[in-house]
Amino acid sequence: MTFSCPHYDYNAEGCRKLKVECIPGRVGCVLRGKIKVSEDIEKRLRELEKTNTRRKKRQEVL
Ligand code: SF4
Repeated sequence: MTFSCPHYDYNAEGCRKLKVECIPGRVGCVLRGKIKVSEDIEKRLRELEKTNTRRKKRQEVL
């Protein structure tokens, strides 16, 4: 990564705030809406959104 975030845990290589993999701009990230991310990260964010949408739909059915 070519940035520095106070929430990034270099030992665990993840987000200390969200306790998940660091994907800058993800829901809950302090940088969400404040930065322009690379195409690769945009793709990962879209995949994450799809996964979250599928999970929400499954929960609505239950
Ligand atoms: S997900 Fe966001 S808040 Fe968490 S470490 Fe990465 S850049 Fe920082």
